[in-house]
Amino acid sequence: MYSAFKDFPELEDLHACADSISTVGEVREEAWVRYRHHDFPILSFRFGTTEPEAPTLLFVAGVHGLEKIGTHVVTSFLKSFIRLVQWDHTLIHLLSSCRILFYPLVNPVGMFLNTRCNGRGVDLMRNAPIDAEEATLPLVGGHRLGPWLPWYRGEALEPMEIEATTLCNFVRKHVFPSRHSLILDMHSGFGLVDRLWFPYAWSHRYYPQAPRVLALKKLLDQSYPHHVYVIEPQHHSYTTHGDLWDYLSLEHQASFASGVMLPLTMEMGSWHWVRKNPRQMFSSFGIFNPVLPHRVKRTERRHFFLFDFLVKAIASGDRWAELDGQKKIFLERKARQLWYAVRR
Ligand SMILES: [Zn+2]
Repeated sequence: MYSAFKDFPELEDLHACADSISTVGEVREEAWVRYRHHDFPILSFRFGTTEPEAPTLLFVAGVHGLEKIGTHVVTSFLKSFIRLVQWDHTLIHLLSSCRILFYPLVNPVGMFLNTRCNGRGVDLMRNAPIDAEEATLPLVGGHRLGPWLPWYRGEALEPMEIEATTLCNFVRKHVFPSRHSLILDMHSGFGLVDRLWFPYAWSHRYYPQAPRVLALKKLLDQSYPHHVYVIEPQHHSYTTHGDLWDYLSLEHQASFASGVMLPLTMEMGSWHWVRKNPRQMFSSFGIFNPVLPHRVKRTERRHFFLFDFLVKAIASGDRWAELDGQKKIFLERKARQLWYAVRR
C-alpha cells in the first residue's frame, strides 16, 4: 500500500500497521513533510466512534526525533491494539462509545536524521507562540539564536512548523470536541525516574484541571500501588517557552470551557539506562534510548499497563473527569497542597 522508506524501521513499522488495520480502524496521512528530495508522511490511526463528543484517548510520540523509544513503545502497543480489536469483546464494546487515536511519529524527518529537531532545526516542543512567564534554563527552555543550536524555537513572526501545526489541527479536530479526553505524549531523556507531567511548562500558575489529574492519580495509585510514575506539573522540573500542550490547553480552556482535556507528557528517565550501561553515554542515541535489547523489551512492558489503565480511564470519566462541586473543592485543596505549595 505504501512506498517503502529504506533504513527507516519506525516508518516501515507504521506502514505495516496501516496495512494490517483493514476494517477495524482508519489510517490517515495527516501531512507530508518535505526534506531534500523526499516526502515523509505523518500518520494517524483512529479507532472507535466518530461521535464528536465521545470520550477520547490520544497516544502521541516522536515529537523529538532522537527519542525513538517513545515511537517504538506506542507502535508496539498499536500493533497489539490492532490484534485485540479483532476479538476482544470488552474493547470492541468500549469503542462503541469511545475513540482511541494514535499519532506515533510527529517528527518523521527528525527521527530519520536522528536529531531532536525537525529538518529545519526547530524544536517542535518549543515552537508554539507562547512565552514562559518566568526565567527558563538558558538554551534548554527555548531560544531564537538559530537552528544550529538545539532547542531553537523558530522565528518569532513565522508560522509554526508544519509538524507542529498538523498535530495541533489534529487535536483541535478530534480531541477538542470530546466531553473528556486524555492525551499521552511520550518523551525520553530527562532524569532517573519516569515522570508524568501535566501543564504548565510556561508558568508556575495553578493548572485548572489539577483536581482531575489528582483524581486520576488516585485511581492509578489505588489500582496499581507499585507503579513507577512521579506525577507532577512540568514546571517542577523546568519551565520552557513554546510548549505545544500549554498552547493547546490554553486554547481549549478559552474555547470549550465545558469539556475536559488532559494532556500528559511521559518523560522516561533515560539516565537510568545510562547508569546501568555507562557506555551509552558515548552515543547520542544512547542518552535518549535504551540500547540493550532486553532493556527495550522491558521498557515496552513497563508502560503497557499504564496504556491499558488509560484505556479503562477514558471509559470511566465519571470517576475523574466529571467531578461534583464538593469533590472538586476537596481535590483542588489537596492538589494545591501537593503541587503548588511554595517551593521555589
Ligand atoms: Zn522529548
